[in-house]
Amino acid sequence: MLDNPRSHGLWEKTAPPAPVTEALRGVATAQVVIVGGGYTGLSAALHLAEAGTDVVLLEAHEFGFGGAGRNVGLINAGMWVMPDDFPRELGSRYGERLLELLGNGPYLVRDLIDRHDISCELERNGTLHCATGEDGLKELEERAAQWQKRGAAIELLDAAETERRVGTPAYVGSLLDMRAGTLQPLAYARSLAGAALKAGARLHTHSAVTAYEERGGRRIVRTAQGEVSADWVIVATEAYSTGPWEVIRQEQVYIPYFNLATAPLSREQQRAILPGREGCWDTREVLSSFRMDKAGRLVFGSVGALRGTGTAIHKAWARRSLQRIFPQIAGIPFEAEWYGMIGMTDNALPRLHKFAPNVLGFCGYNGRGISPGTTFGKVLASHILGSIAEDDLPLPFTDPKMPPLRAVKEAYYELGAQVAHFAGERF
Ligand SMILES: Cc1cc2nc3c(=O)[nH]c(=O)nc-3n(C[C@H](O)[C@H](O)[C@H](O)COP(=O)(O)OP(=O)(O)OC[C@H]3O[C@@H](n4cnc5c(N)ncnc54)[C@H](O)[C@@H]3O)c2cc1C
Repeated sequence: MLDNPRSHGLWEKTAPPAPVTEALRGVATAQVVIVGGGYTGLSAALHLAEAGTDVVLLEAHEFGFGGAGRNVGLINAGMWVMPDDFPRELGSRYGERLLELLGNGPYLVRDLIDRHDISCELERNGTLHCATGEDGLKELEERAAQWQKRGAAIELLDAAETERRVGTPAYVGSLLDMRAGTLQPLAYARSLAGAALKAGARLHTHSAVTAYEERGGRRIVRTAQGEVSADWVIVATEAYSTGPWEVIRQEQVYIPYFNLATAPLSREQQRAILPGREGCWDTREVLSSFRMDKAGRLVFGSVGALRGTGTAIHKAWARRSLQRIFPQIAGIPFEAEWYGMIGMTDNALPRLHKFAPNVLGFCGYNGRGISPGTTFGKVLASHILGSIAEDDLPLPFTDPKMPPLRAVKEAYYELGAQVAHFAGERF
């Protein structure tokens, strides 16, 4: 996508081609203009177009250029923070509403995939949050209790069952979340674009929005070669924001995250490692994640950027970790490597902004954007269509809030990951 195999890695190699689209040229009008072609923007475009709304979407590069084409592909329910932290942080009205919405988010993803016959390597067998020690297990027990009191399909597995499912004795237990699963993230984004086009949305790629103004009661967004005049603007640019709403990127602290994909495992190895294809991550502070793709490649990732000294350090750490966790595939070659930037907010929860009347956007997905992005895109579409009133939105409107010392924190995370991996954490 960028002439850089480290930007979208395996997903670029194995995704179906994107639908053919062109840059915006000239003046267009629409009821809604959406800025950003990731999950949020594409889900909003699809839901609006299905309801017969005249909608234009402008993407700066290609669909999935941002987090949507670079992530691990874990379709999570909820966020990183504990369920009880939602009402604690947002008050019970918004907290419980947001938690319920995001807890059910994976079902919306599955439903869209089924309804639009989307081919994106969907696996419905859940995710396993794996405990690396007694502290990790305690955290999972607490998490399980908080979800279970809300009726979620969550189950704590012991060490033996975790070993049977994952294929390693490395973990003392795990939390199985049957709402969740995995998919091929770029394939999902491109297919959402295809579905939105089919539903009648007008989608333009290579159309970065560079300016915004209000003129004659209309909202105008401008690109290098054109402009769109609309009643509503959805800002769906998230952590990769540029242009008039770059404040969204600035209010988040970047944490780099890399992935390495092995060559496909043999049939026998695939029977031993993740035979159920659950998506996994662990409870360590500098966490690791792993999952299988459709061809049986193990996608193994952790915090860090594959650039400068980080490239050699993180790859050497990944090789050592894989050998310890899965000695049965020791020495297997890597076929792809890539990394991206996860945007984190200071309370690890998303935000909803009203940048001007009728100019709205969610942001701050904290590394959990597949189902939240899909869900928030639908929520914004429903709000514009009048079926969700302002009072019933899952978050209150808040002003963008800048984190102190952002650049220092970002350098700390990038360097800290190198130090942790160089020092050779056990897994
Ligand atoms: C390495 C990594 C691993 C992750 N792992 C997971 C995971 O396993 N599970 C999960 O759920 N989430 C994960 N995430 C997070 C997830 O990818 C994001 O939260 C998700 O992509 C957000 O979707 P979005 O549509 O809101 O934003 P994005 O996918 O970032 O899309 C925003 C789009 O806006 C475009 N844009 C920006 N500025 C402009 C402009 N001025 N004009 C026009 N277009 C513009 C960008 O080019 C981009 O395509 C991960 C993220 C990263 C980086």
